[in-house]
Amino acid sequence: MFRIAAPAESILIVGAGPAGLTLGIELLRRSVPCRVIEALHAPVTTSRAFTVHARTLELFEMMGIVDPFLEQGLRGISMDYRFRDARQVVRLDFTTLDSKYPCFRIISQTDTEQILREHFLRLGGVIDWHTELRAVTGDDGAVTATLFDIADQRTETVQPDWLIGCDGAHSIVRRHIGAEFPGARDHGSVMWMTDASLTGRPGEAGRVCYDIGADHMLLTTQLPNGTWRVLVSGAGDTDSVDSSPEAFQKILDQHFDGTVILGDPQWTSVFQVSRYLSATYRQGPILLCGDAAHLQAPVGGQGMNVAIQDAVNLGWKLAAVATGAVGPALLDTYEQERRPICEKVIADTDELHSVILNHGVPLTTRLAKTQEPGFLDRAVRNISGIAYRYRDTTTASLLRGLGVGDRAPDVEA
Ligand SMILES: Cc1cc2nc3c(=O)[nH]c(=O)nc-3n(C[C@H](O)[C@H](O)[C@H](O)COP(=O)(O)OP(=O)(O)OC[C@H]3O[C@@H](n4cnc5c(N)ncnc54)[C@H](O)[C@@H]3O)c2cc1C
Repeated sequence: MFRIAAPAESILIVGAGPAGLTLGIELLRRSVPCRVIEALHAPVTTSRAFTVHARTLELFEMMGIVDPFLEQGLRGISMDYRFRDARQVVRLDFTTLDSKYPCFRIISQTDTEQILREHFLRLGGVIDWHTELRAVTGDDGAVTATLFDIADQRTETVQPDWLIGCDGAHSIVRRHIGAEFPGARDHGSVMWMTDASLTGRPGEAGRVCYDIGADHMLLTTQLPNGTWRVLVSGAGDTDSVDSSPEAFQKILDQHFDGTVILGDPQWTSVFQVSRYLSATYRQGPILLCGDAAHLQAPVGGQGMNVAIQDAVNLGWKLAAVATGAVGPALLDTYEQERRPICEKVIADTDELHSVILNHGVPLTTRLAKTQEPGFLDRAVRNISGIAYRYRDTTTASLLRGLGVGDRAPDVEA
């Protein structure tokens, strides 16, 4: 643990989402101060991500915040692929995981962010709400950031030593460093979702159910507050979607014959499945973290988890560099380690995509894919994050047993 304080405000974190808050915690718990700015006036109240996976729980334990996730989250034990007209349920069983947390936690992103935020504030952190990064310039390694206080209509110029873009999918920081963001929206796959109460149960608590028809997929899972996430995917684009309660009910009726009735929707969202990966995560003292660096298909629910894992990887390295304990070259390993993981996550979610979101492809073909040797085990290990390691991408030792880059959840950090 590094305990030499860096000068105040030498690190500017843009965005108080899961990535920015996790990075802030990782710096503060090493006594490295940072400033977090957030364009919004207050926390987001919509549920969004609902899965916290095993690898993230292991990291939360190291950060000292796993208990609220275990207490507030529902214990998720499986993801069930129920192919229409097939009698078989293909079960991704997370209780088989080689982890202290053989499960995932079902908890809304609102609650996840609240737990992270409270811990960040407890450690002495401050979030500057309604403060937007408007421009960044970099000259000879010096960064100048123009901030705008939306409430006070006041402009401020700061010169941090390090600027971290945790500013999400439309990252201004990524645009500033001119990083290419190759990828595509999947015009064959659109999703529309709602959180609502249900009368009748589409599945057991703790199981995320995917009812897979030839031309659509219906996901249902109970959330901790008693409501249900109901998500549908079909072919087409966002403007072709009917996300009215009646349209959700029609699809529920196709699968549950009128035994599951949708209550008033709490919120509804329509989005296109997309995959993007930034060509670089770093330009000198400016780095990208979380959705600012990558977007992947939502299958398995990994976006927020990857963002948090990025921030943990970056946090201890930035703390070490900012305090002068090591040279800035250590920061090169952040991209060297995390970008290939993200490439793998994108490839692995594409494999799952070919099973549950391949609208129009015969169900027998997709069911057959799940019967391939190792498919289920691989899917569970990948989705949980347990499979991913840095051995092949870092200067790994060739020692027997645990080596550099391996997951070591029981080591205190
Ligand atoms: C409907 C939906 C369902 C999802 N389901 C899942 C799931 O089940 N599991 C999962 O793991 N992931 C899921 N995701 C993805 C997950 O929400 C994201 O991956 C996650 O929020 C990424 O965190 P982040 O901190 O990188 O970015 P964000 O959460 O986008 O946070 C970025 C923050 O930066 C702020 N910001 C942006 N620009 C500026 C600026 N110029 N100045 C200051 N602040 C700025 C934004 O206001 C925002 O608060 C889902 C997403 C959606 C929309």
